[in-house]
Amino acid sequence: MGETKHTKVLIIGSGPAGYTAGVYASRAMLEPILVQGIEPGGQLTTTTEVENYPGFTEVQGPDLMIKMQEHAQAMGCEIIGDIITELDTSRRPFVAKGDSGTTYTADAVILATGARAKWLGMESEEKFKGFGVSACATCDGFFYRGQEIVVIGGGNTAVEEALFLTNFASKVTLIHRRDELRAEKILQDRLFKNEKIETLWFHELEEVIGTESPLGVTGVKVKHTKTGEINEIPCAGVFVAIGHAPATELVKDVLETHNGGYVKVEAGSTRTSIPGIFAAGDLTDHVYRQAVTSAGMGCMAALDAEKFLAEQE
Ligand code: FAD
Ligand code: NAP
Repeated sequence: MGETKHTKVLIIGSGPAGYTAGVYASRAMLEPILVQGIEPGGQLTTTTEVENYPGFTEVQGPDLMIKMQEHAQAMGCEIIGDIITELDTSRRPFVAKGDSGTTYTADAVILATGARAKWLGMESEEKFKGFGVSACATCDGFFYRGQEIVVIGGGNTAVEEALFLTNFASKVTLIHRRDELRAEKILQDRLFKNEKIETLWFHELEEVIGTESPLGVTGVKVKHTKTGEINEIPCAGVFVAIGHAPATELVKDVLETHNGGYVKVEAGSTRTSIPGIFAAGDLTDHVYRQAVTSAGMGCMAALDAEKFLAEQE
């Protein structure tokens, strides 16, 4: 039987939303507990340069997240390395179970569980995951020195991954299903100027092909989205960068969601459909999905939680 810890505010998640909520809730003397989850620091720990977080012309994603953690800690937020596996929202105090065996009880909960990489969902992708198929260039790019790589997707993540991978790869092919990228113009400029990158428009991944023993990728079959023509591209690595889905496992059956599963909050607030449960960051935002907007919502969630708790007293 593990220990039980009580807090006025339990913050679940350690991305920009969670840590900012930690700063504000601590300064409101709510003595918050923040549980970090499987990815301490969140999505920004999987990238390199961040150039659009105010105050930093350029900062490495993992460094920025360490600074945020230190900031929350310095304000008095208790930060715990644990994963919440269950959240009972049917009674107050709310009860969260940690993977460590610890039970957390809380008068208010701030959900800041963010988003996770999406996969294409094909059998061959699953088969070669970790053996040539990846969703994180900063984690795995190094393994492809001097080799050819493909990146799937057309958003900021795909373009950034493609650019980053040119540090290692001899050639990067960006495969996109349309002929227009969603990525910011500044990133597109860098992409088109990079001689190591070729862009293949109107194509989708059909199959990852490779060897059985050892398990490894040797190429991909791609299909033209208009003509249906299939071609093969030799490569040693496939980086899937087709976006992220909100991490709603803990609450998808109890909280109202919308726009493909994002937690719904009352306009202009972080209040969810259950009083005392607040949501911030990518978990609730299908539009902006930025570090700075997530941090902003983390602040709002702490202020909303403070007001809620004051009203209860
Ligand atoms: P996340 O950063 O997704 O963090 C979620 C947190 O929740 C994690 O700590 C995780 O461990 C935790 N968690 C999840 N489930 C549980 C659980 N059950 N129990 C406990 N904890 C849990 N944005 C920018 O503004 N600028 C950029 O340059 C930029 N670059 C990016 C590059 C990449 C490769 C990616 C993927 C995203 C990038 N973004 C960028 C977007 C930005 O990272 C996100 O908008 C931001 O991180 C969202 O913050 P968040 O706090 O909502 O959640
Ligand atoms: P995204 O903007 O949702 O882009 C996903 C891309 O993948 C789109 O181009 C989409 O194609 C493509 N795609 C989706 N499903 C596909 C499928 N099944 N097959 C083939 N292609 C598919 O996701 P993201 O690039 O991960 O960005 C997520 C958020 O994080 C965004 O808000 C972004 O601004 C932010 N972010 C910011 C930065 C930065 O500021 N530097 C860096 C990274 C991420 P279509 O275009 O045809 O839909």
